[in-house]
Amino acid sequence: MNPPVLLDSLQRPMLDLRISVTDRCNFRCAYCMPSEIFDQHHTFLPRAELLSFEEIVRVAQVFVRLGVRKIRLTGGEPLLRRGIERLVAQLAALRTPQGELVEVTMTTNGALLATKAQALKEAGLSRITVSLDGLHQDIFQRMTGTNVQISTVLAGIAAAQRVGFTQIKVNMVVQRGVNDQEILPMAAYFRHTGIVLRFIEYMDVGSSNGWVMDEVMPAQAIIDLISAQYPLSPIAPTCIGEVAHRWVYQDGAGEIGQIASVTQVFCHECTRIRLSTDGKLYTCLFADQARADLRNLLRLGKQDAEIQQAIVQCWQPRADRYSALRQAVIQLPRQKIEMSYIGG
Ligand code: SAM
Ligand code: SF4
Ligand code: SF4
Repeated sequence: MNPPVLLDSLQRPMLDLRISVTDRCNFRCAYCMPSEIFDQHHTFLPRAELLSFEEIVRVAQVFVRLGVRKIRLTGGEPLLRRGIERLVAQLAALRTPQGELVEVTMTTNGALLATKAQALKEAGLSRITVSLDGLHQDIFQRMTGTNVQISTVLAGIAAAQRVGFTQIKVNMVVQRGVNDQEILPMAAYFRHTGIVLRFIEYMDVGSSNGWVMDEVMPAQAIIDLISAQYPLSPIAPTCIGEVAHRWVYQDGAGEIGQIASVTQVFCHECTRIRLSTDGKLYTCLFADQARADLRNLLRLGKQDAEIQQAIVQCWQPRADRYSALRQAVIQLPRQKIEMSYIGG
């Protein structure tokens, strides 16, 4: 018997849960947490306001009962959350009502990965994605607003490979005029490594990055650029709700992906729900308000059934499709929630 699936108003199932485990970060990427805004005057959430690991696991359990099959830990920088491997281990122990494993994954900037890779692997993390926007130190530093060396991130990726992670992905946000000259060097570097490099269009997430359409390099232009040097062929998606279009090098050097969140909208198959660092639920990356406050329910001592009901009431009426409507809504004055808080 097929498990029941929770559908939203556009018939999209709820399959992926993204959890922001901290709103803090050791980088200040201009497209996400610009340093002029996230400076010493910025107030991050006090510790008591963060969901505890116990609270996260309890909520995650309810999500899994409702059909979630993939949990991604993100932030902020998830490796800054102390003891994160303990949370990974508890989430990896969850089983679906049919007794199947739940995939637990993480997106990280990689700065602390070399020291954490082994513990994450042992804890049962299924897969890992590392963000890296170029191989030129000056460009990298300008984009990330840190003094972290690229070699540190590359050492993190190498450590992940060494401890046995397979299907490692590297996310590169491409900002035209900022790091587009890094596309070919990045493609060349990750060919023949088994690592899937994914090019992400610069998005208008949050309200602080000063996004303009001119800085978006369309994913198709990226594919054309690479294909001229290393011919590519498209391949089929692996699962429903997969955001990346997949391509393989015709010479067998591996796979790359394109995430065309601005120019090729995929709202119609968006299966993701987001849990913020302080336990609020968001049904779209571009939301301006939470749909439910699960931390409040947890701290009021509510039963799982009530938490389940809140999630159902949040998902069933969901009609979000911001990317599909971007042109129409972009002019409206609204304060979108920052990505570091609801998780990328
Ligand atoms: N700190 C971790 C990291 O950078 O991998 C996890 C959180 S970060 C918000 C998750 C992903 O969102 C990263 O791959 C990052 O590059 C991407 N991201 C952040 N801001 C973006 C933007 N404006 N457009 C496109 N991708 C963005
Ligand atoms: Fe930090 Fe990741 Fe945002 Fe960069 S993209 S500022 S690493 S949370
Ligand atoms: Fe999903 Fe919202 Fe992105 Fe559309 S805009 S794909 S609904 S997160």
